[in-house]
Amino acid sequence: MARVDAKEGPREGGREGRESREGGEGGGRRSFGRRKVCRFCVEKGLVVDFKDANTLKYYVTERGKIIPRRISGNCAKHQREVAVAIKRARMVALLPYTVLHT
Ligand SMILES: [Zn+2]
Repeated sequence: MARVDAKEGPREGGREGRESREGGEGGGRRSFGRRKVCRFCVEKGLVVDFKDANTLKYYVTERGKIIPRRISGNCAKHQREVAVAIKRARMVALLPYTVLHT
């Protein structure tokens, strides 16, 4: 009559880490510091260039998605150029299509 004891684990102490829910950064505001003006309109001489990955980087998320115009603040004309530039930059592997998090 061998009894298998391994099935019931220790039942105590299962309720810790419950209070880690609050105590964040508060966070009421939604503004994330992105300016509402089109960067390319403001800075004369700054052109949308698919080779300029450093600039394009600001318009993609960490996962490589293009940030929508409402958030990026670009004007329609430049947002479109940025989108095209990002797609080109992806083709030449300057920007990721997506980032695989494992
Ligand atoms: Zn613009």
